Amino acid sequence: MEMSRPLPVATPTTEPFWDGVRNHKILLQQCNDCTKWVFYPRTNCPHCLSNQLTWREVPGDATIYSFTIARRPTAPHFADEIPQLIAVVELAQGVRMNTNIVNAEPADLQVGLALKPIFKTIKDATLLCFEPVK
Ligand SMILES: [Zn+2]
Repeated sequence: MEMSRPLPVATPTTEPFWDGVRNHKILLQQCNDCTKWVFYPRTNCPHCLSNQLTWREVPGDATIYSFTIARRPTAPHFADEIPQLIAVVELAQGVRMNTNIVNAEPADLQVGLALKPIFKTIKDATLLCFEPVK
């Protein structure tokens, strides 16, 4: 029996990110004061504490920063997704996000592997995943 998997719930602070993903766009916050990029979404810049953050669309080119291959489900909801390719990816803007790598074999994964974004729709939610640049 398929269990319904947990899906993201947007908050007022994260809503622009999830709205972007739903429209197959990646929006990140950039600080108007120190120009650094910010992820996960917040109300204040973690570098200079400014509250002047602007959402900007980025292409989403990234590399694997770290990864693991889950050969047993990390939760019952993911039993049909084994092996799960779980990664921390670093976007060109320097921010890192936790995600899944798709359209790849476990042996393909290595730190530094070039990735591009791919949007995966599950029920009412769209998730941001990444796949190797072929
Ligand atoms: Zn800043």
